[in-house]
Amino acid sequence: VDRLILILGDHLDPRHPALMDMDPARDLCVMIEAHSEAEIVWSHKQRIALFLSAMRHFAAELQERGLPLLYRRLEPGRRMSLTQQLDEILTEQCPRELVCARPGTWALREEIRSLCSKYDVQFREIEDHRFLFPQEVFDNWAGGRKQYRMELWYRHVRSRSGILMDGDQPRGGRWNYDSENRKSFSRAGPGWLPEPVLFPPDTITEEIFALVEREFPQHPGALQHFSWPVTAAQAEEALQDFLRHRLPSFGAFQDATWPGEVWLYHSRLSAAMNLGLLDPRRVIAAAIAELDAGKAPLAAVEGFVRQILGWREYVRGIYWREMPGYLESNALRAAQPLPSFYWTGDTEMACLRDVLRRTLDFAYAHHIERLMVTGLFALLLGVRPVALHEWYLAIYVDAVEWVELPNVLGMSQYADGGMLASKPYVASGQYLQRMGGHCQRCPYQPQQAAGAQACPFSTLYWDFLQRHATKFAQHPRTALQWRNLQRKSAAELAEIRVRAAELRERYTHA
Ligand code: FAD
Repeated sequence: VDRLILILGDHLDPRHPALMDMDPARDLCVMIEAHSEAEIVWSHKQRIALFLSAMRHFAAELQERGLPLLYRRLEPGRRMSLTQQLDEILTEQCPRELVCARPGTWALREEIRSLCSKYDVQFREIEDHRFLFPQEVFDNWAGGRKQYRMELWYRHVRSRSGILMDGDQPRGGRWNYDSENRKSFSRAGPGWLPEPVLFPPDTITEEIFALVEREFPQHPGALQHFSWPVTAAQAEEALQDFLRHRLPSFGAFQDATWPGEVWLYHSRLSAAMNLGLLDPRRVIAAAIAELDAGKAPLAAVEGFVRQILGWREYVRGIYWREMPGYLESNALRAAQPLPSFYWTGDTEMACLRDVLRRTLDFAYAHHIERLMVTGLFALLLGVRPVALHEWYLAIYVDAVEWVELPNVLGMSQYADGGMLASKPYVASGQYLQRMGGHCQRCPYQPQQAAGAQACPFSTLYWDFLQRHATKFAQHPRTALQWRNLQRKSAAELAEIRVRAAELRERYTHA
């Protein structure tokens, strides 16, 4: 074999550049299923099923295209890691070169590189379609910065790409329409919501379900509600469905949450984009076409484009620039264990219970729920960032380390000390009351910070402000929030500290 083309489980792009210039007479594609990919980090059953099903569908497409493929299926007796299997394959095939798009984790990339050098095989990493820009664009923009800001990156790439631009000005005259977005639902709730297109399991996916139940019976989550696109054609259908039914209201309600409502107006496209089934350029262009056709407002389209062109490319840039040290970050010295109810949803707090149960059922929660419910609670409680990172990586269907880690450590936990975000995203239970309908069904009172009825978010919020006053009270972005502390009496602050200590003790064992 001249070239081995290694197709990892998140490189399932039918237009994968390595396939385009492949010589079927001399080159060989390799795909490997490995237990370790679901076990190195504990993984939700739907996440395992999605990867495996999408891989097998992709393999079938390669075979239809007549491309030579070595596909190693997951077998009960073969508990070898991905790189142990690759080691065997390199020994058998003796290729001159190994071609691969950049893996989703820093550690796997290092392992593949070192295997190649062990066998004197040339390692060639190619750019793929899962991102608009090569990593160098981020590195060049970042220059000598020690702190990055998404808004600056976003303006930079919009100007550079011309996306949503009129000449050198942002379309509509503003870079950001957040003031028109961020609405919450009235007390009556969201009312009728469009049901997204669902993809019930076909024969391949059914086989995978049986495999997952057999090989990973102890893993969290359920397969019952699995409805993710597993092919590029299905991902395109999911995109069309989003454009038609949910994009126009995406911006307005992107930060809202409501009990029992899983999807609201979100796109559900992250997993498809992260796996390579859907090109983010296509997603952005299709959303802008809706704006051009007058079918979606600018605020919704800009808000949506910012998530992909801005946030998605930004976190990926930070991951590759800051790893491996980033994994160790813990600027707030948080040391609490993760409460065990994160794995079961068994808590009396209505918002957490709802979001965690939906997460277990669907392997999904939308952004604000990840940031301001599960993430916020862990931040206020002071959970060790790595423990939280392992939970997020395990539990969401779209989780791959390059995107999950900066979101968890940087955006949600401020563990990187402000490298990714300018301030910690902290709020009390009253914020949650504004953004959703959970508090109406909860035994706790968001307005109260001390006492047995106090919402734990509120208690821990005021406790957080006290614990980190020296760090943030003088900081220009946070001073206002900390100034409110001075309005509380010394007695009330002491009461809050006592209650917070009780909660911390309780949730160590819960
Ligand atoms: P929509 O709300 O419809 O947004 C559209 C698209 O924008 C998404 O599909 C996604 O590709 C992109 N996007 C939006 N926000 C972000 C962001 N902050 N970073 C990167 N891309 C973004 N996203 C993942 O893909 N994998 C993860 O493991 C992941 N972990 C997260 C952990 C935390 C603590 C937080 C706060 C966010 C995380 N996100 C992650 C980002 C975001 O929550 C998800 O991309 C989004 O909820 C996926 O649902 P959707 O496709 O319906 O997104």
